[in-house]
Amino acid sequence: MRNQTKHFINGEWIEPAGSDTIEVINPATEEVIGKISAGTKEDLDKAVAAAKAAYPSFSKSTREERIDWLEKIVEGYKKRSSELIDVMTDELGAPLSISEHVHFKMGLAHFKKAAEALKTFSFSEDRDGHTLVKESIGVSGLITPWNFPTNQTSTKIAGAIAAGSPVVLKPAEKTPYAAMILADIIHEAGVPKGAFNLVNGTGDVIGDGISSHPDIDFVSFTGSGGVGEKIMQNASKTIKKVALELGGKSPLIVLEDADMEKAAKMAVSNMFMNTGQVCTAATRILVPKTKKDKFEDAVQKVLPSFSMGNPREDGHNAGPLVSEGQWDTVQSYIQKGIDEGATVLVGGTGKPEGLHKGYFAKPTVFTNVSNDMVIAQEEIFGPVISIITYDDLDHALEIANDTIYGLAGYVVGNDPEQLRYVASNIRAGQITVNNARTDFMAPFGGFKQSGIGREWGDFGIEEYLEVKAVLGMPS
Ligand code: NAD
Repeated sequence: MRNQTKHFINGEWIEPAGSDTIEVINPATEEVIGKISAGTKEDLDKAVAAAKAAYPSFSKSTREERIDWLEKIVEGYKKRSSELIDVMTDELGAPLSISEHVHFKMGLAHFKKAAEALKTFSFSEDRDGHTLVKESIGVSGLITPWNFPTNQTSTKIAGAIAAGSPVVLKPAEKTPYAAMILADIIHEAGVPKGAFNLVNGTGDVIGDGISSHPDIDFVSFTGSGGVGEKIMQNASKTIKKVALELGGKSPLIVLEDADMEKAAKMAVSNMFMNTGQVCTAATRILVPKTKKDKFEDAVQKVLPSFSMGNPREDGHNAGPLVSEGQWDTVQSYIQKGIDEGATVLVGGTGKPEGLHKGYFAKPTVFTNVSNDMVIAQEEIFGPVISIITYDDLDHALEIANDTIYGLAGYVVGNDPEQLRYVASNIRAGQITVNNARTDFMAPFGGFKQSGIGREWGDFGIEEYLEVKAVLGMPS
């Protein structure tokens, strides 16, 4: 049992001001695996005061010092790999191989890329006899979701350290333990006291406290649109800058000339990845009308090579959903799809055969979906995808962009002209053509209601900087 009820403030683990706690549940076993503190405003004030006190020297630290801290974090992170992988499987329910090859590696990549980007990052420039300088924005409040426990925290922390911005992190209360290990790693890497602080607690108390705190200059939030809206409203009272990484309903456009089996594999692997709890998941699969039957057959054909099961057993692609609440939400969306008249090609409501303990949901593929159905418009955040047919490419793009979101887009096919046409006409922050590899140096963030701002690599450093123009003083 992990009873880790302290907060990390000013370089040490300290007792919380209050005594309320939050239980952390393993979604595969439904058992309580530990407790964390339900932090209070008093805890948050202490952390913000420590970050504020660290700002004058941390913001003036040199490029070399910051690179050294980031590289030492990379070393420490690697040393604690088995512990991080293990804890993510417990708190999130990700299969061990996914915890290792996806979650652990993403977290690691962000520290590496921030160090790499920092080596050539330009903090000042001469412009027509004046100097433009980029300076640390001040104290940053970081609020993260549960779906990628190391990725979400690491990308923000790495950018902030590279920019010399002290932080207060509030990790998701469902998956706090990977972040708590990270706190030790950051401390052991020699990051000055007060530059990194972690306060556990609920969104209503600590999250709300961060977005309205007068001594916090910038809030970087990843999570749902509803909470993003509240954060913007709160932040407006003190004119704080906000970065919001929100939800998505991303399209995968299957071109007429695509290999249908390859396309089906992409669609199904999106459904299984992190049990569909991925903001960039391709959840609307747009298929030419003429290829609908072929595509559906291909989905049935590739499905047996994917499996869902106990995350501690070898060979599964997906585990349970993160919580009972998430399971209920996913069930209600599957039922909604049925009620709206979509056809269940695979899956449906209830638990998969043999998986009665744990928050497992059936991987579900809907077909005969129209884009105005709720299941095609709202983010489900579970292993559910919808097949929607199109007449021609412009029709496909019209459907693709008929959403409030704009986080990601995917296209699979062969004709370079068509691939380029699709890539330049989907309104979203990141487009993946065929099986392009993930690039952690490429900017990540959304158009429209998917958010404001960009993370990863040099764009992630920019988030934590303000631009100052010094007139009459060439550097
Ligand atoms: P959530 O919005 O419920 O919670 C995210 C974080 O915000 C948690 O730490 C939570 O405690 C905190 N929070 C809750 N209420 C708050 C409040 N009033 N003020 C401040 N903070 C508050 O989201 P979630 O359920 O943890 O995550 C799922 C959502 O996150 C999905 O919508 C998903 O698309 C989105 N997401 C987006 C990205 C991206 O990069 N665009 C990545 C991952 C997840």
